[in-house]
Amino acid sequence: MPLLKKLFRFRPHPLQNHPLIDLIDEGLILLDKKGKICAANGAAVSFLDLPKRYLLGKECSEVDSPLLRHCLALLRSCQKHDCPATDSFQSDKGKKGYLEITVLSQNKKGALFLFRDKSSHQKILEMGKDFVSNASHELRTPITIIKGFAETLQDLPELSLEMLSVITEKIVRNCHRMEKLIKSLLTLADLENIPTNRFQPCDLIALVEGCRHLLLPKFPGATLELITEEKEALVWADPDILELAILNLLENGAKYSEAPARLSVLIERKEKEMMLVVQDKGMGIAEEALDHLFDRFYTVNKAHSRKLGGAGIGLSIVKTIIQKLDGTISVASKPKEGTAFTIHLPFSK
Ligand code: ADP
Repeated sequence: MPLLKKLFRFRPHPLQNHPLIDLIDEGLILLDKKGKICAANGAAVSFLDLPKRYLLGKECSEVDSPLLRHCLALLRSCQKHDCPATDSFQSDKGKKGYLEITVLSQNKKGALFLFRDKSSHQKILEMGKDFVSNASHELRTPITIIKGFAETLQDLPELSLEMLSVITEKIVRNCHRMEKLIKSLLTLADLENIPTNRFQPCDLIALVEGCRHLLLPKFPGATLELITEEKEALVWADPDILELAILNLLENGAKYSEAPARLSVLIERKEKEMMLVVQDKGMGIAEEALDHLFDRFYTVNKAHSRKLGGAGIGLSIVKTIIQKLDGTISVASKPKEGTAFTIHLPFSK
């Protein structure tokens, strides 16, 4: 049996039997001078999605793997220029993801392939790109509208007063929309650098009362009921950003309800933290949308949100704030019945 004989003659590199080799997160493959795989750790096996016994002793060029073919191409460049070579590789087999490969070789004595999982790094880069593209898109729409109307004013200076008023109203409305979006984007950026020395005991009841005074003039006829048995509900937070989060939820409750909105806030002391629930009896949210609700720029109905001056940033600001305060937020909703956002926050220190 030639294959058995072949396997019998093969001696794995001593590194292969070292117990630490499988504890490394990076994938590692060692080739001997003939190009045979003489060591492979657990991480490499999972990136390649091939069993270790199949790899060991095999000529690297014989293994049917796009990742190893990529490594061999890098090895040739590495040997040609006599220096390590690095490249990226998108894996869709085994441990799926984005890998950084480094290939090292020494005077044709052998070679070492290293695989580092860069998927989370790549994800952050992609999220950054998505963010810029979404933000640009949201800003481009009002700019296009303003530009169109401003050009009309330029080209037709003899417009009636009535038309002038319609056009200027549209320009002003879109300027407000842009201003609001830029303010939200700056708030999101600022939240990344909130210093914890601003944290202090904050009374949720007083904060909700503060929000009531900011909310009700904007939504005439709306009602806000505060339900609690507590006299004081102290949490450990930055009062400004916590107020912003609660106000955002209340404004959404009013925005996505038929006027006059009926809102309530429940505050309850739990065993380990304080609970605050903002509830409305508005249009509700379809179940399939709930998973995406806190994503940046997500809106259930883009046209409806735009009409109300929203761009899908509000809830991502709320979630970022609650996470900064070491709290949690969840949502429950039923279409045509209403929505409830539940926040848990740590007690005041
Ligand atoms: P927007 O600025 O569009 O309101 P948000 O991030 O605040 O953005 O909300 C995201 C989406 O979630 C909204 O477009 C809306 O469809 C939905 N939503 C948020 N709050 C409520 C609510 N209380 N009732 C119904 N839908 C809501």
